[in-house]
Amino acid sequence: MAAPTASHATAPVAPAHLPSVDKLLQSELLQPLLADYGRIATTDAVREVLEQLRQQLRAGTAITPESIAIPAIAERVASHLGLLFAPRLRSVYNLTGTVLHTNLGRALLPQAAVDAVVEALTTAANLEYDLATGGRGDRDDLVEALICRLTGAEAATVVNNNAAAVLLTLTALAHGKQVVVSRGELVEIGGAFRIPDIMARAGCQLVEVGTTNRTHARDYENAIDDDTALLMKVHTSNYAIQGFTKAVSDAEVTTIAHANDLQMVVDLGSGTLVDLRQWGLPHEVTVRETIEAGADVVTFSGDKLLGGPQAGIIVGKKELIAKIKKHPMKRALRVGKLTLAALEPTLRLYLHPEALAQQLTTLRLFTRPQTDMRAQAEQLAPVLQQALGAAWCVETAELASQIGSGALPVDNLPSWGLQIYPASGKQAGRQLQQLEAQLRALSRPVIGRLHDDALWLDLRCLEASAQADFIAQCELLNP
Ligand SMILES: *Cc1c(COP(=O)(O)O)cnc(C)c1O
Repeated sequence: MAAPTASHATAPVAPAHLPSVDKLLQSELLQPLLADYGRIATTDAVREVLEQLRQQLRAGTAITPESIAIPAIAERVASHLGLLFAPRLRSVYNLTGTVLHTNLGRALLPQAAVDAVVEALTTAANLEYDLATGGRGDRDDLVEALICRLTGAEAATVVNNNAAAVLLTLTALAHGKQVVVSRGELVEIGGAFRIPDIMARAGCQLVEVGTTNRTHARDYENAIDDDTALLMKVHTSNYAIQGFTKAVSDAEVTTIAHANDLQMVVDLGSGTLVDLRQWGLPHEVTVRETIEAGADVVTFSGDKLLGGPQAGIIVGKKELIAKIKKHPMKRALRVGKLTLAALEPTLRLYLHPEALAQQLTTLRLFTRPQTDMRAQAEQLAPVLQQALGAAWCVETAELASQIGSGALPVDNLPSWGLQIYPASGKQAGRQLQQLEAQLRALSRPVIGRLHDDALWLDLRCLEASAQADFIAQCELLNP
């Protein structure tokens, strides 16, 4: 006797009821996926979805017959493949107010660098090939003369980032020896880079001198003995010690080092190549000033104030740079051709300082007129107000952006932007978090900052060229 249809429909779904892989792959609904993603990836996705369903069934999860029917499974397979093929590195709008945001990729590169990278990606190039002789070249030659010209240093080499530059310099010049550093300069950058840890990794013994707030020339002098290799200064790039303080200048430390036949090394952090005061920005010590103060080796980042790609640049005395380049660790920390392709045109922009504030993207952002950002805020406020509806208040506001990445930590750049807060004020915290998450979920995520019971969107990094797309996206917001 056949079972009545009604009871058949409510019978529990079992693993045996799942359609086979073959049946799914042959179904009409899977054909577009096979065409877009290929047989191998689609078959894998089908297997994975079937396995998930099987596990849910075994675990006793109630599953409707519809959700194991081919249309439902095809939909799951499509979303599986969509996720698998979606890029993980995505463009975002950096409206945090921090221009050099380490978590958002630091410096945005100038167009000249972009063009050079695209070319280097698709053509062979003389990366380590001497076009004059046809012999083997040195990749540092591509940028060394330019770096020396811009900094006044005798020689230069480039590695993966400034952390690598410090590690390599200490390893090559002071392994097994002592390095003297002021207690006020035992910097930690972003948790993973700490001067004491880097010293240990480089096989050096850190000799701390002075106190957190005050270090004197005699502190350095008293610390020197037969095991000392270097006196080191670290730019306190992400904090400032204020009040009753005393630090010994680069020039004074150099004098002490040289009087004792030692070298003076500076980890400068930001790598400023020009005096920023000419654009009304606060002064940040430049690489040239540090070299002129007598430093034997200076290290700095390529993607902070310099405005180029991630890189660590080491400049200084010829014989010391030669020693650093000869160390086997240089081979492990060297940069690839994309970095050099991006660095060279970025550096070249500095040969034409009159145009720098237009052409170097980071400097253009730092120097954006406040009136521009204010006009932009006034234009965008009604758009966002309209998109978000009456539950939200959108107001224009004077804000203060930061350079970021530890550069000039106590100086703020006057800026303009939007402050968004819930009209009712009820459960403001939760509502704001939801709004912030909603902006983060946009196809090009908008990253703002929650502060003072409002979501702040600093417009400094939203240049005119990006504004139309930004508006189009905001109009799609669905509060
Ligand atoms: C930023 C910084 C570093 C680390 O540089 P990366 O390029 O991020 O590796 C090291 N030292 C100082 C003083 C810094 O400011």
